[in-house]
Amino acid sequence: MVPGVPPLLTPVPLTSAAMTRQCARPSCDRQAVATLSYQYSASVVWLESLAPEPHPMTHDLCDLHAESQSVPMGWELRDERVPRLPLAVAAEIG
Ligand SMILES: [Zn+2]
Repeated sequence: MVPGVPPLLTPVPLTSAAMTRQCARPSCDRQAVATLSYQYSASVVWLESLAPEPHPMTHDLCDLHAESQSVPMGWELRDERVPRLPLAVAAEIG
C-alpha cells in the first residue's frame, strides 16, 4: 500500500498491456515483474508483485533487479512478493 493512493475499484485483467511494463533501471529492457515503493518517514522499502498500474512514486523492476535490490544503511527491505508458480520458473530455466 502506498499512502494517499485510493484502492483500485476496477479489477484489471491479467492480459492487460499494463502487465507488460519494462524494468525502470537504465539500460535494462527486461519485463518488469515487481514494483518497488518507498516510505521515507519509516525508512522502509517495499518489494511487491507488479502493480496493476504504473505510479509516479513507484518503480517497476525485472526479476534480476528485484532480486539484487538493496537498501541504504538503516533502511528495511520488505519483500512481499507473491511466490511465483513453479510452471513460470521452469519456463524461464528452460
Ligand atoms: Zn532490470
